[in-house]
Amino acid sequence: MSYIYFIKQYFIMYCLILFGYYLIPAGLTYILFNVIKKGKWESKRIQDRRPKKKSIIHEIKSSLVAIVFFALYTTILCYFIAIGKTKVYTNFFDHSTLYFIFSILIFIIVQDAYFYLTHRFMHLKRIFQYVHKSHHLSNPPTPFATLIFGTW
Ligand SMILES: [Zn+2]
Repeated sequence: MSYIYFIKQYFIMYCLILFGYYLIPAGLTYILFNVIKKGKWESKRIQDRRPKKKSIIHEIKSSLVAIVFFALYTTILCYFIAIGKTKVYTNFFDHSTLYFIFSILIFIIVQDAYFYLTHRFMHLKRIFQYVHKSHHLSNPPTPFATLIFGTW
């Protein structure tokens, strides 16, 4: 399998998966809280302000751009896994159960630290307006703002 074919196939697949992962829960949550249960849970709202249609459209557009980046990142990661350039293994018995549990804990810690540090980096004054401002423009945010991380 050529790497171009692999990347095209996986990139398209991850775009579709992420699109479903984004749109279905975000759409259902939005409909549940803003249409079906709108009046019943009104007293539970944190803010009185309502999201504007323009803001929701911006959230969806920005999230769709984010999906492309996430799919690209995931595709590259899967490519390196496929060619054996990572420590990812698929046979549970290649390592001990303790190693498996420990690696999951390490993964969670590294993932959380990566997310935190990346977010802190994007809040630096010189960086913020170029790469992250859009993320904080959703006010009040809707479920459609879930994937926004940049300024698009
Ligand atoms: Zn932020």
